[in-house]
Amino acid sequence: MTSGIPSVSFEFFPPKTEKMEQSLWQAIQRLAPLGPSFVSVTYGAGGSTRERTHNTVTRIQKETGIAAAAHFTCVGATRDEIDAIARTYWDAGIRHLVALRGDPPETEGGVGARYVPHPGGYAYAADLVEGMRKVADFEISVAAYPETHPEAPNAQFDLDNLKRKVDAGATRAITQFFFDNDAYFRFLDRCAAAGITVPIVPGILPITNFARAVEFAGKCGASMPKRLAETFDGLDSDPETRQLVAATVAAEQCQALQAQGIKDFHFYTLNRSELTVAICRMLGVKAKQPAVS
Ligand SMILES: Cc1cc2nc3c(=O)[nH]c(=O)nc-3n(C[C@H](O)[C@H](O)[C@H](O)COP(=O)(O)OP(=O)(O)OC[C@H]3O[C@@H](n4cnc5c(N)ncnc54)[C@H](O)[C@@H]3O)c2cc1C
Repeated sequence: MTSGIPSVSFEFFPPKTEKMEQSLWQAIQRLAPLGPSFVSVTYGAGGSTRERTHNTVTRIQKETGIAAAAHFTCVGATRDEIDAIARTYWDAGIRHLVALRGDPPETEGGVGARYVPHPGGYAYAADLVEGMRKVADFEISVAAYPETHPEAPNAQFDLDNLKRKVDAGATRAITQFFFDNDAYFRFLDRCAAAGITVPIVPGILPITNFARAVEFAGKCGASMPKRLAETFDGLDSDPETRQLVAATVAAEQCQALQAQGIKDFHFYTLNRSELTVAICRMLGVKAKQPAVS
């Protein structure tokens, strides 16, 4: 992008209830006019949202015209089953997949529990990318971990794993969220040294609930700077201030990344729009088209 205005993408999760469906569509209506390069929809642990993910992705693409990407995991399905789902996406006009290993379902301990590949399934994300490449000419994004995936034996192993995913055909990596920009820049240097040339797009998590962000960061291996804990301290019962602080914190993080030349941002929206709209505005991204009705 030559204008200096960054390119943004938004991540949603498939709604469980009618009410959640309404909030998701409200968020999409507010975020769509910002002209995202794509939006993506997550896949519940163990394939629990297979149908809802599919319906949400295809509806977004059909009703908003925005390129929608379907997240996909290796968990709980054979290769043939996964290939068949990918084909239904291709047939529905979806051209972008986010290929992930996934975590064990909640019934088996969820994030952090010991992962056992499905017999007859794709074992790891690199295998899934290779498989998807054979199904159709998808654009494929994968996950990357500036602070190392918690189950990796070491950082080099994890970096080699990212290289395997790219060599298998991934065209973009989206990072796990992080709050320490230095860790991200060090990671970019290590990726470049390893010959990884695809974009490594920072995943930005606006903090709507600090306690939950801490818990999630712990499970994902993302460090939580002490200054953030101090900033959010005492705001549990003050949602208005918390909201302003959250927007400021995330906007500052993104502006610092932007100042170092980062031009693509992926937002974990948690199906809410207000913080992401505010942060995008601070980055110079404004509505390009009328809101979707
Ligand atoms: C942008 C993004 C989006 C996500 N979306 C979803 C989603 O929609 N649904 C969901 O359930 N989860 C999602 N996740 C979470 C993701 O599924 C977990 O982080 C999961 O634990 C790892 O997935 P991965 O694709 O990075 O796995 P992989 O790249 O396969 O790596 C997983 C771990 O295994 C190690 N490893 C890789 N290959 C081997 C091997 N051959 N032998 C031994 N170890 C190996 C790696 O080093 C790493 O520690 C997302 C994460 C990110 C960053």
